[in-house]
Amino acid sequence: MKILIKGGRVIDPGNNIDKVTDIFINKGVIEDIDENIDLNGIEMEVIDAAGKIVSPGLVDMHCHLRDPGQEYKEDIESGTKSAVMGGITSVACMPNTKPVADNESVITYIQSKAKEVGYVNVYPIGAISKGLKGKELAEIGEMKFAGAVAISDDGRPVVESGLMRRAMQYADMFDITVISHCEDIGLADGGHINEGFMSTYLGLRGITRAAEEVMVSRDILIAEATNTAIHIAHVSTRGSVELVRQAKKRGVRVTCETCPHYFTLTDKAVDGFNTNAKMNPPLRTDDDVEAIKEGLKDGTIDCIVTDHAPHHIDEKNCEFALALNGIVGFETSLGLGLKYLVETGVLTINELIEKMAVNPAKILGLNKGNLSVGNTADITIFDPTVNWTVDIEKFSSKSKNSPYNGFELCGKPEYVIVGGNVVVNQGILL
Ligand SMILES: [Zn+2]
Repeated sequence: MKILIKGGRVIDPGNNIDKVTDIFINKGVIEDIDENIDLNGIEMEVIDAAGKIVSPGLVDMHCHLRDPGQEYKEDIESGTKSAVMGGITSVACMPNTKPVADNESVITYIQSKAKEVGYVNVYPIGAISKGLKGKELAEIGEMKFAGAVAISDDGRPVVESGLMRRAMQYADMFDITVISHCEDIGLADGGHINEGFMSTYLGLRGITRAAEEVMVSRDILIAEATNTAIHIAHVSTRGSVELVRQAKKRGVRVTCETCPHYFTLTDKAVDGFNTNAKMNPPLRTDDDVEAIKEGLKDGTIDCIVTDHAPHHIDEKNCEFALALNGIVGFETSLGLGLKYLVETGVLTINELIEKMAVNPAKILGLNKGNLSVGNTADITIFDPTVNWTVDIEKFSSKSKNSPYNGFELCGKPEYVIVGGNVVVNQGILL
């Protein structure tokens, strides 16, 4: 299969490319990037990308595909379909499945099912502790050997600091990334939303920012003391951004991510007991949103991830305190980034692509998120000037738990190429 992408603005921050040019794909591989590629007489598919951005396929290093075990929420097929519709060509999925991905066999299951029915590249993340119980380390080497790209107990913190330290030291030895869900359970105190005006107003138990920040501090200190690396998941507060900023200045090997909801929404979205605005960490305040944007701008925050967390309608359509945490995110993340960060001047498109493709690939050690000649063709093409309206009924995900229904966003992916195959064509899944 030969594909020629004609006349788009090719942005490949990893290779310092930003120019109007053509890309020629042959047998799944980027064979040439040059102006006015002319292959007269050769039969091929031509994509007219004039006026559009041609980007490396996005890499989402934090999502939940719910497979194995909770396929009523999502499975590898529907989840990767949803991802590709959002312009994402590689995902790393968290291990809190049923059974937990804490051993070779679950890691292997995810990989082989993804090969069979997946629409994008799927990279499993293994658990830090057996059964996510926080007691005993999982078989980190065995999981790495089977193909796990990172370890995390995401969904819950590793409470025992000594266990976290050993996990970080083992991970360093095996050259695998540790992703920390930072939450002090005692401080979070069973809360449901950010502690502040809204929690008082709604009469809901609040979660102090300190619940996140105490653990961010701890993990930074462990990384510093042991010269190991740590990646902080879903940063949501001004304090966390500042802790990472200062640690980076001292040379600590710390990276971090945030999600679109932490730079687009505040706890006001919970008003009316909107369970689609319930997540962990919770939505914060305008001041935190400002700090997240500052952190993105100055490079403190390396990545934007979705934390795509599908739930069945019955798990959200209930009393606020009982509703499960999380929202679906694959199909809105690029549009939210373009609308709330690029259109407002917080980031350039190039910087957005860095945070949604280049940096996540780097942190996971994947040769993805670039348009290097000779590399597998994973490409996303979008027009940032085209507006579209979010309609949850049109999501490819099995779940519809999004707080963004009806939002006006821009830059819906028009073409998505995975492994040299056009999977989305003019916005339609093939
Ligand atoms: Zn988490």
